[in-house]
Amino acid sequence: MHYQHHWASGEATPFTAGKAVCVGRIYADHAKELNNPVPAKPLLFIKPYTAMTALQQPVVIPQGDQPCHFETELVVLIGETLTKASPEQAKQAIAGIGLGLDLTLRGLQDELKKKGHPWELAKAFDHSCPLSAFVDAEAIANVEDTEYKLWLNGELRQHGQTNQMIMPIYQLLAYCSQHFTLLPGDVVLTGTPAGVGVLNPGDELRFQLADALQLQTRVAS
Ligand code: ZN
Repeated sequence: MHYQHHWASGEATPFTAGKAVCVGRIYADHAKELNNPVPAKPLLFIKPYTAMTALQQPVVIPQGDQPCHFETELVVLIGETLTKASPEQAKQAIAGIGLGLDLTLRGLQDELKKKGHPWELAKAFDHSCPLSAFVDAEAIANVEDTEYKLWLNGELRQHGQTNQMIMPIYQLLAYCSQHFTLLPGDVVLTGTPAGVGVLNPGDELRFQLADALQLQTRVAS
């Protein structure tokens, strides 16, 4: 595997891709659609480097009878080390902003949750973290009040507005850094809004991040 973070210009970033820290249940509307309580603090989990892949390549979903759900998320590319950081330090450490999918084997995740087992088999498998290219943080006027969208086969399915998160983004990055040191090249997937659903081979996906980034891709057949 040779995934590398890229800028929207096509150039590789100087950062070696590391881990993905992922956030769960940070949009109340999504927690509700899965009948999950909205927690006081966001739920955190990690996907390894081996989960990362370029979103513009056809999205590979696992074979088998497990439904694979898409979760469209705003992704923060970290440019400086953050350990027990403040929200202001977190803001300064953002190198880029992009979009990604937190692919989830939902049936398996439900089984694991019921048994009280970790989620990795359902969340951290190979290719479970397709990532777009990144734009400069300055390309987004206010990352804490921005929007992004996913169209599936031409139909608008997800519309995220970061001002709807139960914890704003800089505070969220600071919170992640209380538990996991964030290194240059790590990414934080900031959680999904409502509208998640099943991906099928051949599906067409279109993404938009504010007026900064557009991307079209499909699910591999
Ligand atoms: Zn997610």
